[in-house]
Amino acid sequence: MMYNIRTGAQRVSFPEAVRLGIGKEQGLFLPERLRPLADLPALLDLPFAERSAGVLSHLVGSDVPPGNMRNMVEAAFDFPVPLEPVGESVYALELFHGTSLAFKDFGARFMAQCLGHFHDGGPMTILTATSGDTGAAVAQAFYNQPGIDVVVLYPKGRVTPLQEKLFCTLGGNVRTYAVEDDFDACQTMVKQAFLDPELVQTLGLNSANSINIARLLAQVCYYFEAAAQLPRGTRPVYSVPSGNFGNITAGLIAVALGLPVRRMIAATNANDTVPRFLAEGRWKPYPTVATMTNAMDISQPNNFDRVLALGKRHGVDLERLLVSVSLDDDDTRQAMLDLYDLDYVADPHTALGWKALKDDRTEGEIGVFLCTAHPAKFREDVEEVLDIDLELPDELAEVAEREVLSRTISSEFEDFRPLLLNG
Ligand SMILES: *Cc1c(COP(=O)(O)O)cnc(C)c1O
Repeated sequence: MMYNIRTGAQRVSFPEAVRLGIGKEQGLFLPERLRPLADLPALLDLPFAERSAGVLSHLVGSDVPPGNMRNMVEAAFDFPVPLEPVGESVYALELFHGTSLAFKDFGARFMAQCLGHFHDGGPMTILTATSGDTGAAVAQAFYNQPGIDVVVLYPKGRVTPLQEKLFCTLGGNVRTYAVEDDFDACQTMVKQAFLDPELVQTLGLNSANSINIARLLAQVCYYFEAAAQLPRGTRPVYSVPSGNFGNITAGLIAVALGLPVRRMIAATNANDTVPRFLAEGRWKPYPTVATMTNAMDISQPNNFDRVLALGKRHGVDLERLLVSVSLDDDDTRQAMLDLYDLDYVADPHTALGWKALKDDRTEGEIGVFLCTAHPAKFREDVEEVLDIDLELPDELAEVAEREVLSRTISSEFEDFRPLLLNG
């Protein structure tokens, strides 16, 4: 069972929590019990998909039959997760080999499988607004899922051409609209649709929101993959580039399940609400500032409530385990250059995580930094900082050739509504 960390009293099954996304009073869901995995050594010897199905079944209990879980995981995690040495005693956990070239593929693809399996045969439409990245992960994840339509709104001309190619060239069950306005206007249109009972009912609207419990639990799996690829008995320091704090929350859940760790570093950019909170004990968000690690430009991270709940109700020793530091764009650029000297080309987010690890790690400790995006995804910055020409991976080179299928629309909800209803 899953429980609502705000109300405590609301308890729902895992499929219900996935369908709902968010609970009463805007509360987030977590599994009711987080017990250590039995026989971790045996689990670590299994292949990635088989082990991940085991971890996820342990987390959701009997709500999903193990055979179904296995099928869902195999369909969702259909790409490799390499752990590459970078310098001495440090490893890169590369989470960007999925279809949208970012770690969000794990969560988005698993959630798509869940909604595909749990939905009752009625209509279902995933409606989402994107400023670039989420759209690609969601559209690719739900592409060709039977019985599910996907509608993505994005601000015309304000996503990079490559980002647009990643989600606007699919066709099939994915419809994309380029809105002649900004991202906030797109989000407002999505909100208006969710306030329209006829639309919600007729289309079976679902937001595939980033705080969905399916996305979070999927991310627990790759921490165990790092452990599987390291020598047994290693207790590494993990560094996680953090924005909304979903990724680090998943890491702390893995710790509750028995993942061996020395500590976890949540590395933020100049949006440093959490590092200041941990240092001073006061929650005091400042206005969000724009940085070159823009996927982390968040000053009120939604998932931090979950982190606190893991400490308070699930016995995770946050004081001992959790460190949070803030780095700026100059640190990030320097880190990209330093990594390049070690023969590793990293995107800005990944480089920031590496730098936090480098500063915090002491002699003799093993470090793992999580690579959250492929460098080609942030090609302009990488080419400029490193003064190199970056080759696109094959998948990206191929979509870059395809035609954008989006329809351009205004931000008038009344014009959009019939399109949403009738396709
Ligand atoms: C989303 C994202 C992050 C931040 O992850 P959170 O789970 O929100 O902390 C970091 N890097 C990249 C490239 C991302 O897309």
